[in-house]
Amino acid sequence: MNNQTFGIIKPDAVRAGNIGNIIQRINDSGFKIRALKLVHLTLKEAEGFYAVHRERPFFAGLTEFMSSAPCVVMVLEKEGAVKAWRDLMGATDPAGAEEGTLRKEFGDSVGENATHGSDSDENAAIEIAYFFSNLEIV
Ligand code: GDP
Repeated sequence: MNNQTFGIIKPDAVRAGNIGNIIQRINDSGFKIRALKLVHLTLKEAEGFYAVHRERPFFAGLTEFMSSAPCVVMVLEKEGAVKAWRDLMGATDPAGAEEGTLRKEFGDSVGENATHGSDSDENAAIEIAYFFSNLEIV
C-alpha cells in the first residue's frame, strides 16, 4: 500500500475562500502535507490531467471549470492515503456525500465539488508526477 496520494482544492473552493478551512481539516485528519502549491491550469493542462474522462459528456465543462481560476495541488501522506483522502472528501456529488465530508461541507454540485483525490496508488503516482518534481516533495 502506498502512503501518498494527490489532492486538489478545486477552483470553486479557492474562490469561496475555503483553502484554509480545507487545510485545517487535512491537518485534523492526520495527513502530513509533503508538497503544496497554487496553480492556475491552462485548458490544455486541465485536459491532460483529466484525459481518462475525454469521452465523457461532462469533459468540456470539467476542464473549463478546472482552468477557470487557481487551484491548490497537494501531496498528502498518511497510512492508506488514497482511501483516507477519498473518505475525507466524500462522494463525488456533494448532495449524496456523508455529513462531515469535505464535499458535503464545501462542494456546490457534482461538477463543482471542492476537491479532487486520486482513485488508486497507480494514479496517485501519475498525478503527483504531473504537478511536482521530486525536489518539490519533502
Ligand atoms: P471523483 O473521483 O469522485 O472526483 O469522480 P470521477 O473520477 O468520476 O469524476 C471526476 C470529476 O469529474 C468529478 O470530481 C466531478 O468534478 C466531475 N464529474 C463527474 N461526474 C460528473 C457529472 O455527471 N457531471 C458533471 N458536471 N461533472 C462530473
